[in-house]
Amino acid sequence: MFEPLFAHPDRAIGEHRHILVTGSRVVVRVDVAGSARALAAGDAAALLGREPGDLILGRLDDVHYWASRLPDGQEKSGSLEDHRVGDLRSLHGVLSDAEWNIAGRATQLLEWQRDHQFCGRCGAPNEALSDTRAMRCPADGTTVFPRLSPAVIVLIERSDGRCLLGRNRGWDIPMYSTLAGFVEPGETLEDTVHREVFEEVGVRVGNIRYFGSQPWPFPNSLMLGFVAEWAEGEISVDGEEVIDAQWFSPDDLPMIPPPMSIARELIDDWLARAGS
Ligand SMILES: [Zn+2]
Repeated sequence: MFEPLFAHPDRAIGEHRHILVTGSRVVVRVDVAGSARALAAGDAAALLGREPGDLILGRLDDVHYWASRLPDGQEKSGSLEDHRVGDLRSLHGVLSDAEWNIAGRATQLLEWQRDHQFCGRCGAPNEALSDTRAMRCPADGTTVFPRLSPAVIVLIERSDGRCLLGRNRGWDIPMYSTLAGFVEPGETLEDTVHREVFEEVGVRVGNIRYFGSQPWPFPNSLMLGFVAEWAEGEISVDGEEVIDAQWFSPDDLPMIPPPMSIARELIDDWLARAGS
């Protein structure tokens, strides 16, 4: 299990690996078989031109993971033989799942650190705390933690064996997926499921069950998956976010999301329960 660390550990002890972040992209080392992994300290130092390790992320077993910011453009001028620069989506399945998640932590935490150098209340420079992941203003004590934006994602099933999937306006491929939306302040997750489903497709649901969750670093989201049963109403899409929604049976599915997403896990789970 990954253990987050907040105070910088002794670099002389144990193994240390580095995630270099440039913009929203990550630099990894690629081996001959095409798989990739986080950089050793020497490689990271060569690419950065300085000591790596701006921010400690934590420890996975005996390996410490650090994040460092590589200035935009530098990844093009340096020697990048045996390395690859890619966004998180393109590195999924290339990095191990464990290191892909760590790379997601790196991009989000470096961005958070960059955007919270100063107190939002009084403008004084913030200081990083060493006992928790937070930045605090020494002048007035205002403390900021990394921001996450929780979103629900829900598969709606019906007693006739079909499930409801929708097509988003922004997708440039003819894909259908489960419905999703951000949690508003003051809502329970169940409130959000009811509201988003009714807003997007006009139906009412009941028997909402928690399914599982997935960090979704594009950016700073946390997806909370649910299964719900159709209760009443005919499909009526909002036309804004969702441009089409239909009831699909297991043997007549449209294009669905790729395996990296909890949307796909929800659909696969539904298919397994349907026995197909
Ligand atoms: Zn302040």
